[in-house]
Amino acid sequence: EMPFFDYTPAPYKGPPASDILKRRKEYLSTSLGPLYTNPLNLVEGKMQYLFDEKGRRYLDAFGGIATVSCGHCHPDVVEAAVNQTKLLQHTTVLYLNHAIVDFAETLASKFPGELKVVFFTNSGTEANELALLMARLYTGCNDIISIRNGYHGNAAATMAATAQFFHKFNVVQVGIHHALNPDPYRGVFGSDGLKYAKDVQNIIDYGTCGQVAGFIGEAIQGVGGIIEMAPGYLPAVYSIIKKAGGLYIADEVQSGFGRTGSHFWGFEAHGVVPDIVTLAKGIGNGAPIGAVVTTPEIAEVLTRRYYFSTFGGNPVCTASGLAVLRVIEKEKLQQNAFLVGSYLKDRLASLMEKHEIIGDVRGRGMMLGVELVKDRESKTPAIHELQQIFEEMKDMGVLVGTGGFHENVLRITPPLCFTREDADFLVDVMDYTMSKM
Ligand code: PMP
Repeated sequence: EMPFFDYTPAPYKGPPASDILKRRKEYLSTSLGPLYTNPLNLVEGKMQYLFDEKGRRYLDAFGGIATVSCGHCHPDVVEAAVNQTKLLQHTTVLYLNHAIVDFAETLASKFPGELKVVFFTNSGTEANELALLMARLYTGCNDIISIRNGYHGNAAATMAATAQFFHKFNVVQVGIHHALNPDPYRGVFGSDGLKYAKDVQNIIDYGTCGQVAGFIGEAIQGVGGIIEMAPGYLPAVYSIIKKAGGLYIADEVQSGFGRTGSHFWGFEAHGVVPDIVTLAKGIGNGAPIGAVVTTPEIAEVLTRRYYFSTFGGNPVCTASGLAVLRVIEKEKLQQNAFLVGSYLKDRLASLMEKHEIIGDVRGRGMMLGVELVKDRESKTPAIHELQQIFEEMKDMGVLVGTGGFHENVLRITPPLCFTREDADFLVDVMDYTMSKM
């Protein structure tokens, strides 16, 4: 039974889902999806809800893979994008345009210290590629350390830095090293952050000349299965990297823009100030934009080199980004992410008393994960069961994501306007589908 909701979507005039599926197979080059056995044909979005062609409503607890920070088609963001589209859609950052500079300035004001120069890209991948390039140019070193279970993108350097990809694509790049995953649930050293940090020191000592270009890591791993770094890990790695002359790159593509609730940026919870921060996803509420934020000194390495992005800093995207920052502040979305996120996490954790299949509940704010296991002793990933729960939750009107190295983690990354009632509905639906297992 779907809960009451007083919005009626516009009548659907498009072709049936079966027809779209058929043509999708024929004309789209896709490696993934459609996610569901009985695929969803989504035609409209409104805040935390999505609607299919029959007008059926779904609570979107995946949020377009953590992109839709303010809610689908948030009126303020739509208005900003539409107005800018009518005025000027694109030239390039080579000319002056206030929509680009306004956003850069406001974005920079959200960062501590010297982090005040912004370079716009079109995705998280490009932001991370540029961050790695900057670190290499700035230090004159080639060696980069990333974490085995991290996700940083799908171009040359970022794919090599994303160790999850290795067995799938056979990508290798000289100078990229992968450190042990500081995963409190499955990692070899449990919650001992300092022991995992020692692995970074070992890599520097045995795999490099002693100097590195930098380290890249997420504050909370997203695609990797919503994994919080073992306590003490990031500050320890920070000082290890600094001693080796490297830069600390914080990949805030998923954990930024208030999603973690307690802080605007994920790194702030760890008491470190990165040299370079990369952004995408939630930055534009769905507009394709990414960014690298760094210090004037580091940014200087690009000066007089021919580094350029045709669409980077597109004014429609930057106008959307500016509107997003205003909405987050006006609607206190970070506080909401904290309050509703804490409530949701507590309720999910209490499901563990009832359902043995839940091995772990973790994350912060609106970035939560529920790891499913065959039994808590062996921690054998419950992959098949996850797929069943995932599909049934959809049939009951709740969309969540999946992730983790074993694909056995339900990922919950809704728009930050998610309410307590939404949280209750999600938990009740999850509870029901697990009870049927
Ligand atoms: N970094 C992180 C932490 C991500 O989650 C992602 C996307 N899942 C990326 C980088 C790559 O972003 P994009 O898909 O926009 O290239």
